[in-house]
Amino acid sequence: MKKSRVIIKSASYDYGTLRPLVFDMIDAFCGSMIGKGSRVVIKPNLLAPAAPERAMVTHPLIVRAVTEYVLGKGGLPRISDSPAMGGFERVLKESGIREALRGMEVEFREFRESVVFDTGEPFKEIEIARDALDADVLINLPKLKTHAQMGMTLGVKNLFGCICGLRKPEWHFRTGVNRQLFATLLVKIHYAISPAVTLMDGVLAMEGEGPGRSGTPRDLGIIAASDDACALDVSLCRMLGADPYDMPTNRAAREMGYAAGEIEVEGELPVVSDFRFPDVAPLVFGPPKLHGFFRRHLVQRPVPDESLCRQCGECGKYCPAKAISFEGGRLRFDYDRCIRCYCCIEVCPHAALRAAEPFLGRAVRRLKR
Ligand code: SF4
Ligand code: SF4
Repeated sequence: MKKSRVIIKSASYDYGTLRPLVFDMIDAFCGSMIGKGSRVVIKPNLLAPAAPERAMVTHPLIVRAVTEYVLGKGGLPRISDSPAMGGFERVLKESGIREALRGMEVEFREFRESVVFDTGEPFKEIEIARDALDADVLINLPKLKTHAQMGMTLGVKNLFGCICGLRKPEWHFRTGVNRQLFATLLVKIHYAISPAVTLMDGVLAMEGEGPGRSGTPRDLGIIAASDDACALDVSLCRMLGADPYDMPTNRAAREMGYAAGEIEVEGELPVVSDFRFPDVAPLVFGPPKLHGFFRRHLVQRPVPDESLCRQCGECGKYCPAKAISFEGGRLRFDYDRCIRCYCCIEVCPHAALRAAEPFLGRAVRRLKR
C-alpha cells in the first residue's frame, strides 16, 4: 500500500524565511510537473472579504511565494476561487492578495463556468469549475480553520470552492442534515480535481466557531504540505490532539479507501493540547419518528445576536433551505427547515450569528455529563 508523505515546518509570515520554505515544499511534490507554459491554477481559501489578521483567508504572502515559484519555472499562474460572499475582487483586495501580487505576471479569474464530472455513486454527476479541471497543475492552498458544521476545514474541504457560486448551497441542501454524505461529496470533489500539492497555511490559524468572523485567530506557526490532502488532514488533526476519524471528511476518505496506508511525517509535528474545536453535535439520532422533535429541541442551531446584526440580508441570500426571513424588522429562523449547515454563520459579515443549543439540549447534555 502506498505510503503518504507529509512535510510540516515551523513558519512565520516573515517573507525572507517563508519564501524558501514554500519553494521547497512545492518543489518536493510538484516541481517536475511545472515547466514553461504550464497552466497552474492556485486555489487559496478566499471565503469572504477579510484582512489577513482575521485568519479567514489564505495569507497573501503564501499566495505570493507560490506564484513566484510558478513564474520562476516558466509556468502561467492563475489565482482562482468562488468566494461564498462579498465578490471575488473585493476578497482579493481586502485580503491583501491583490497588493501582495502587484507587478507580477499573474491572472486573477473567478471560477464561474462549470463542467459536469461523473464521480460515480452516490452523486454521479457533479458540476465542477472548468478551470480547476482543465489546469495542468492545481495547487491547493487551504487555511487551517475550525468549521461549525464539519469540525475543521482543511485540505479536502478547501476544494469545495471549486463548486461555482450558488451551486454550493444547493449541494448543502441536497445532502441535508447528513453530514457524512456531505463529507463524501467533499472527498469526491477533491479526488475529481486531484491537486498536485496541498499546502496548508497554519501560521495564523482559526479556532472556536470558525470558519467565518465568529472564529478566533490562533497562532500555530506552521505550514504543511502533501500531495495527498487526506493524509495531510489526518496528520493535522493528530497535531491538534483530535481523533482524525472524528472528522467526517477523514472518515469518508477512509471508507472510500483513500489515505489508508502509512503516513510518513517529515519535520516536527508540534503538539497543540489546547486547541478549541467547535461543538459539533450529531444532527440525526434516536428513532426516525422522533428525528424532527430531537432536531428542534436538542440540536444546536444558528442564533442571532441582535445587537450585532445590521440586517444586511447576506445570511438569507445564502441559506440553502430558505429558512431565514425578516419579520417586523427582526431576523427569524425556521428551525424545522434549517439543515444546520451553518452557512449563515460562515457568511455573516458582522459575526452576528453563532451556533447555540436550545434550552432542552443544554439540560440533556448537562445530565449526560
Ligand atoms: S445575521 Fe449577519 S448576515 Fe444576517 S442579516 Fe444580520 S448581519 Fe446580515
Ligand atoms: S438557517 Fe443557517 S444553518 Fe440553517 S439551513 Fe440556513 S444557512 Fe444553514
